[in-house]
Amino acid sequence: SDLSHIRNFCIIAHIDHGKSTLADRILQLTGAVEERKMKEQLLDDMDLERERGITIKAHPVSMNYKAKDGKTYQFNLIDTPGHVDFSYEVSRSLQACEGAILVVDAAQGVEAQTVSNTYLAEEQNLAIFPVLNKIELPNAQPEVVAQQIEDLLAIEASDCLTVSAKTGQGIAEVLEAVVARIPPPKPGVDSSARGLVFDSKYDAFRGVVVYLRLFSGSLKPGEKVRMMGSEMDYEIKEVGIFAPDPTPVKELKEGSVGYVIANIKDASEIQIGDTMTSARHPAATPLPGFKEIHPMVFAGIYPIETSDYEKLGKSLDKLKLNDAAFTYQAESSVALGFGFRCGFLGLLHMEIVQERLRREFDLDIIASYPNVIYRVNLKSGETLEVDNPTMLPDVMQVQSMEEPFIKATIITPTDCLGDMMQLIMEKRGEITHTDSIDAQRVMLTCDLPLNEVLIDFYDRLKSISRGYASMDYEYADYRESDLVKMDILIHSEPVDAFSAIVHRSKAVYRGRQMCASLKDVIPRQAFSVAIQAALGGKIIARETIRAYRKDVTAKCYGGDISRKRKLLERQKEGKKKMKSIGKVNIPQEAFIAVLKTK
Ligand code: GDP
Ligand code: MG
Repeated sequence: SDLSHIRNFCIIAHIDHGKSTLADRILQLTGAVEERKMKEQLLDDMDLERERGITIKAHPVSMNYKAKDGKTYQFNLIDTPGHVDFSYEVSRSLQACEGAILVVDAAQGVEAQTVSNTYLAEEQNLAIFPVLNKIELPNAQPEVVAQQIEDLLAIEASDCLTVSAKTGQGIAEVLEAVVARIPPPKPGVDSSARGLVFDSKYDAFRGVVVYLRLFSGSLKPGEKVRMMGSEMDYEIKEVGIFAPDPTPVKELKEGSVGYVIANIKDASEIQIGDTMTSARHPAATPLPGFKEIHPMVFAGIYPIETSDYEKLGKSLDKLKLNDAAFTYQAESSVALGFGFRCGFLGLLHMEIVQERLRREFDLDIIASYPNVIYRVNLKSGETLEVDNPTMLPDVMQVQSMEEPFIKATIITPTDCLGDMMQLIMEKRGEITHTDSIDAQRVMLTCDLPLNEVLIDFYDRLKSISRGYASMDYEYADYRESDLVKMDILIHSEPVDAFSAIVHRSKAVYRGRQMCASLKDVIPRQAFSVAIQAALGGKIIARETIRAYRKDVTAKCYGGDISRKRKLLERQKEGKKKMKSIGKVNIPQEAFIAVLKTK
């Protein structure tokens, strides 16, 4: 079939450089969305995305473009997230495309994710063309930024287009450049259907919706298809494209991007990266899948109401379908009851998953302290992987411990370089390279323990640089480290949800911090309560909550009965949301507050 009219591309950029806005303009100019239906950030359809102004999921959309050469082209555009935690979404989208528009804010210049996303696109051999955005801003410096792109990314400065996604200036040229600079799909090796599953979504009415890029052959309703990895067969009910809403078509053709609905009931049946083929004429070999991704950060997620346990399990199952990087398995905690150990790519990813559970699945949940995976080398010669402090074997059995390190790229203004280096040192990091970008900015390459980055590294980096520094990282290796388990005891009871594995040099500081924030959130009880941090049997920090006799009805002078009853009811309501640790009642908010503020 003729593929010369198809262009599959994505937009990559550092966060806030204008990917979604550019996508909006492209949709508008090609007439994919009627003027009256146009709203800002059209593709960020998740509430959470709209509120936070960030793209979390990759969004595919198809449109027709009538070019200056008189021909009509089919554009398949995939908008991608920019945040480091979601780079797996980016690399998946890239694999479904032949080209990428690299958007760079002409006022801000090249940032950390500009660099990392360009590398990802180059790894996939995509045609990349740079677009300088926001040129209508008075402080835009398109020439300077074009030179940065040439110096740092080895993409010729003269290749840059200049646009304003806000005013629409230059967008028509971008559309022409998509036609001219991005190659059409290569024809498939044969005519057997091969669709790369790059995403999927669960629909309550129609089951699993599979997002795919068809590299060869075609798919039609009524056909029997097979998932090559799981070897499961299904009958196609509907195929369609995103225009931008899911729109059924008669046939999905070679080279295009679209969706398949095939009576797939269970979320877990679809593996992202699997190849969909025809069951009658299966392809000889599957498409190369995606690089497997491994979660780096682990935390327990527990229902606040014990009776929600099953619902939580089912929700996680559905969420996983839409989020390939997320993992979970059942676990239990003395303090929190039955829940799930969940794996995430980073803290933002963890926050987003929790938020989605609350909103999309209407669940009240609580998460334990996040941990990385530690390697524990035992004296017996065995090596354990531990992502939960409570699973740490007895110190007597342990020979040594290792922790994961990342390689980080940090771009920082030169005037706060000193503070930035101080922060990296404090976090036990080591700077391996410094490259100057221009007179104002420096790119630092450094090795850092992932564990330290989890806590507050990103916030500190932002505040030191007044928001101007950016960072990206990739996993590097494991290194031996002097690590200890820190327990938190409340009224002499260890609370497993608060245990943490920390570097010995940080234990006292973290112990004090933890005790102090717990003191702030645990209400006074009828007796005095000690909050302690301990390494083995040794107490390293302590706070005390003094006793307090709480008599809520005292203010009512024993007079107004109905008012008194109301108060008691309210108190009972409050109790329901408490978890008791030994004799002490701790409000849910305390767990949340403490686990959040590190
Ligand atoms: P994304 O994170 O890369 O998807 O970036 P967005 O498209 O969400 O844009 C980030 C912010 O930049 C939003 O507030 C946009 O309104 C704004 N923005 C996007 N393009 C332009 C532009 O050309 N000029 C100006 N002044 N602002 C823009
Ligand atoms: Mg966006």
